[in-house]
Amino acid sequence: MDEVQIKSNGNNYVCDECKNENTISEEKKIKDIVECEFCGIEYTLIDQDESENFTLEMLEEEK
Ligand SMILES: [Zn+2]
Repeated sequence: MDEVQIKSNGNNYVCDECKNENTISEEKKIKDIVECEFCGIEYTLIDQDESENFTLEMLEEEK
C-alpha cells in the first residue's frame, strides 16, 4: 500500500490533502497522532530529524 509521508518544518506542516498549514503542539512526540484542523486527516509522527523536523505519515482509512 502507498503511504503518504510529508516532512514538517519545525512544528509546522502543510497537510497533503487540503494544503493548509498546521502547527504540531509542543508536547507531541514520535508515535503520537496529529489531526489536520482543516480537513480532519490524521497523521502519525514517525520520525524526527536532528533539525527537529518531523516526518508525518498519513493514516489511511481505506484498507
Ligand atoms: Zn488537511
